[in-house]
Amino acid sequence: MRRQWLSVGLAALCVAVGVPAHAWAATSGTTAQRTVTTAVRPVVDMEATVLAAQIDPRRPDNTLTPGAKSSVLAVEQALQAQGLLNAQWVDGYFGTVTISAYAAYQRTLGYTGLAANGLPGTTSLTKLGQNRYTVVNTIGPGAKVPRDGYVVNARTQAMLAQAQRLLGYPLVLDQGSYNPGGDPTSAGTHDGGGVVDIAVTGMTAARRTAVARALRQVGFAAWVRNPDQGDWPWHIHAAAINDTDLSSQAQHQVGDYYLGLNGLANQGPDDGPQVPIRTWEQYQRGQ
Ligand SMILES: [Zn+2]
Repeated sequence: MRRQWLSVGLAALCVAVGVPAHAWAATSGTTAQRTVTTAVRPVVDMEATVLAAQIDPRRPDNTLTPGAKSSVLAVEQALQAQGLLNAQWVDGYFGTVTISAYAAYQRTLGYTGLAANGLPGTTSLTKLGQNRYTVVNTIGPGAKVPRDGYVVNARTQAMLAQAQRLLGYPLVLDQGSYNPGGDPTSAGTHDGGGVVDIAVTGMTAARRTAVARALRQVGFAAWVRNPDQGDWPWHIHAAAINDTDLSSQAQHQVGDYYLGLNGLANQGPDDGPQVPIRTWEQYQRGQ
């Protein structure tokens, strides 16, 4: 038992420090294989996989998302085994073809709408990996909860609460999540989970920036939007990175945020306060 635990622990550690799990298995897996076959299964880091699925489709090149390659490869191999992905796309890059293949897999499970958005959720990722890989660092949006007359999910609610603690004052929404077709100027970004607009009425420019900074610190891709950018009043638009309920449009905004863009259709440069980009889970771990 001790050896089994050690094997799994080492595999997870390898992924955590960016060494592909299969590389470790290739060099030191023999002993573990003799002892417990399941211990040498690839490890799929769900956080890294979901992150790659938001960023990779937006990349202008074939750069891989750091720390995600071995996890994405294992997922792509499983999609290939299901007949949903051609071998040429099994490359550790979670691009648009892999998103489509993953969405197709979600539909085979009977999922529709947001549940078939191409972003891995815990249930589909685990089912896809049955007898193939082990899922670690699972994430999820949690239950839908009311806030300021709108709907958000529990993960978003917790993130907003922490941003308020950092700021020392409350934030009020003027649009929530799970709001399909509610606001045509939002271009579908609020259709799914993880996305909110913060009211900025009465705030100075400095305070608007401070709010955007706090939202970024806890794991939102957040921007101050002004009336010159669209048919909208001043507000702050925020999309929770790695929320598995993000609509396709919001997934693209998160990817653009990582790539230094403003999340608008013009793909202009990021105009918000610069902070190290991290997810809510990384923030909670103090990373
Ligand atoms: Zn918005």
